[in-house]
Amino acid sequence: MVTASPILSGPFAPAARLTDSYGRVIHDLRVSITDRCNYKCVYCRTGEAGPQYPELAIDEYLRLIRLFVSLGITKVRLTGGEPLLRRSLVDLVRELANLRTLTGEPLDLALTTNGHLLDSLAAPLKAAGLNRVTVSMDAVDAPTFERITRIPGSFQTVLGGVRAARAAGLTPLKINCVLLRGFNDDQIESFAHFARQEDVVVRFIEFMPLEEGRLWSPEIVVPLREIVKRIGRVLPLVELPPREAGETARRYGFTDGRGEIGIIAPVTQAFCGACSRVRLTSDGKIRTCLFSQVEHDLYGRLRAGESDQDLRDYIHRTVQGKEARHHIGEPGFLKPSRSMVHIGG
Ligand code: SAM
Repeated sequence: MVTASPILSGPFAPAARLTDSYGRVIHDLRVSITDRCNYKCVYCRTGEAGPQYPELAIDEYLRLIRLFVSLGITKVRLTGGEPLLRRSLVDLVRELANLRTLTGEPLDLALTTNGHLLDSLAAPLKAAGLNRVTVSMDAVDAPTFERITRIPGSFQTVLGGVRAARAAGLTPLKINCVLLRGFNDDQIESFAHFARQEDVVVRFIEFMPLEEGRLWSPEIVVPLREIVKRIGRVLPLVELPPREAGETARRYGFTDGRGEIGIIAPVTQAFCGACSRVRLTSDGKIRTCLFSQVEHDLYGRLRAGESDQDLRDYIHRTVQGKEARHHIGEPGFLKPSRSMVHIGG
């Protein structure tokens, strides 16, 4: 159980909303609650144990998230590493579901997972107040899937998790697929059929240079235009309007009205100008961009005993310094010091 502390239960004073120096309003927080993962996806981790960053106690994440919510955050996505590995996850979700935004609404509460432990956790998470999950699946055939995750039997386990999540009402259910040329780009058309059969929104993501190893090159990225063209050949597509401003995925429906896919194209069609996001790593550092070269130690300040108001001021100042955009593919591009699994995807 999460232990209640006064800071979690008391009312909090609304403060000025978070904006950056480019006028972007920040309302979307991604929180990594561990950088451990039970998968070793070939494009993400080297497969070795690798450095681990410390984890905070669950009520420390709660305290930090609460500060962000008091600054106008309306959407919280829990991620990792693999978030389902944290034992008190259901308690954390229950506490987060009790928070209210500045306009008095419940948070939009989502989670990204590899789905391996979802079969048994989907119903308790839904009951605790989770709204939606996104499950990562990089193939819809078992051999390719297991070649990527390097975990035997993982395909059936994750498929079971996806079905459990849908049955629990964690919908609309999204499936994220990172495409890499030569690894899984032969899955594109099958994923379109899968989206319709399983009643899920499949979102293809362009591979970004955030891996532990050195795999990334422009040639390995499968660009948005190619994906749309290939699916369109087997199942005609129509582009759909964004559901909200700043939506990262371009949405497409099938012309018969059944099913939807999305494409997240940070490499070939960057959406930094509409970014509304900030990240908190599992060890309590703020990252204002996936590709930030600097991290901001919010947790260190909390541990040093700073007041809520001082911590809010620090968050404000930090967000003001949010980068204009990333520089993937440009000369002089520098990979961040942490890879995706250690930042929180
Ligand atoms: N373990 C959870 C999962 O598998 O969804 C959450 C963490 S994982 C790092 C989050 C997402 O990041 C996954 O969908 C994964 O495929 C994606 N990802 C990892 N490395 C990536 C990269 N270099 N480029 C794009 N997406 C990446």
